[in-house]
Amino acid sequence: MTQQPIVIIGAGVIGVLSAQALAARGRRVIVLDREAGPAQVCSRANAGIIAVGHAQAWAGPEAIVTLMRAFVGREPGVRVTRLRDPALWRWGLAFLRNCTRARHGANTDRLARLSAFSRDQLRNVARDLGLEDLLRHDGGLYLYDDAEALARAAGAHGPHQMDALDRAALFDREGALAQAEDRFAGALFSTRDSVGDCHVFTDTAAQKLAARGSVEFRYDSAVSGLETGSGRVTGVQVGSETIAASQVLLATGVETADLTRPLGVAPLIYPVKGYSGTWALRDPARLPSLPYIDEAAHVAVAVYGEQLRVTAFAEFAGQDRSLPPERIAVLKDYVTRNFGLAVDLDRASFWAGLRPTTPAGAPYLGQVRGFDNLWINAGHGTLGWTLSAGCGALIAQAMTGGTPELRNVSARARWLDPI
Ligand SMILES: Cc1cc2nc3c(=O)[nH]c(=O)nc-3n(C[C@H](O)[C@H](O)[C@H](O)COP(=O)(O)OP(=O)(O)OC[C@H]3O[C@@H](n4cnc5c(N)ncnc54)[C@H](O)[C@@H]3O)c2cc1C
Repeated sequence: MTQQPIVIIGAGVIGVLSAQALAARGRRVIVLDREAGPAQVCSRANAGIIAVGHAQAWAGPEAIVTLMRAFVGREPGVRVTRLRDPALWRWGLAFLRNCTRARHGANTDRLARLSAFSRDQLRNVARDLGLEDLLRHDGGLYLYDDAEALARAAGAHGPHQMDALDRAALFDREGALAQAEDRFAGALFSTRDSVGDCHVFTDTAAQKLAARGSVEFRYDSAVSGLETGSGRVTGVQVGSETIAASQVLLATGVETADLTRPLGVAPLIYPVKGYSGTWALRDPARLPSLPYIDEAAHVAVAVYGEQLRVTAFAEFAGQDRSLPPERIAVLKDYVTRNFGLAVDLDRASFWAGLRPTTPAGAPYLGQVRGFDNLWINAGHGTLGWTLSAGCGALIAQAMTGGTPELRNVSARARWLDPI
């Protein structure tokens, strides 16, 4: 009798790279997604930065001040517009519990180890699938407006291999920034950052896996529920069909709790909305070659695939995916001020995505307690592309009976046996 397949629900970057890792370990895998193709939801138009230098938990003593300011509309990059959302309050209380110095340190340590591991794993995945050309591994910049903030950040980043660049050294490295707004005091340079289009990488990876015959992708397949019995998931419901599975992996991003709530499990994954704009290039020489995060403006910038991608905002707005003109105006204004001569300002597209964010910052990675064969890889927040290959490798190692190469990297929860 042939072994039933492993079923992964979700063909975002997390589901597809989990499928790659399971297939590499010889498993038969089916990936289901409601959308018509891979990476159509949060993995669609993100900044594309493998941001090892930004692998820090948001929850911490400083975040309390940021959130207070956001509540009263005084934090430019962070907005809270759904104050009456009970899910936000449940999430917010758990977030506050993670704001102690000790928990911030432990969560940041998880993310730092996971992101460094993931960056290396992503190179392996690219090699396995012949996708090396889709990634650049030259590092990334974190820009600061004032020298004091830069010095503070340099101190805080001690163990993370970040080089501090003063203004002259920054402009020496990135001449294009000298022509942008005259406000940058310097930068941290993370040698371990990489960059690439998350959507293109995920989409091409899925095509290659399908062509090899090692993974079957079924799109336009909305999963309505999980059938369970005797402490196991026995089937996955898609319309009137029940798909039998040896094991089930949830890679369902912000929608994960919709499937687990009937089982009595409610992961705290809040959708934190962000926006991106993508511009066609006119004069690439006027653009920075390295991806960067403008820390004062809360804006991320990257150039790849003949386009400039700029992302911004962290908005607590529930499941709202609308694109209000005033948010688009902020992105347009940033690009016009800094790179108006480098891109075609009339050829741009805009997008909003919901980052699947846990209170701890680390993803939920492990086995759902009480079920022999139900696993989760969800809740990667601002770092899903960064963490995708490493989390895929670790969950595949655990699901196939191996010992995960890293331990203690998952967020903790009562309902989870974490990796
Ligand atoms: C503006 C912005 C910028 C970002 N920049 C970066 C960055 O530079 N670097 C970085 O590392 N990360 C970044 N991120 C974060 C990153 O994009 C996410 O963490 C990542 O895409 C999450 O991937 P995922 O596969 O978990 O979720 P998704 O891509 O949302 O995939 C989940 C999939 O599950 C499917 N699904 C859910 N429920 C069901 C169901 N019941 N039946 C069938 N299918 C289902 C959905 O259709 C979807 O395709 C950014 C995010 C945003 C919004």
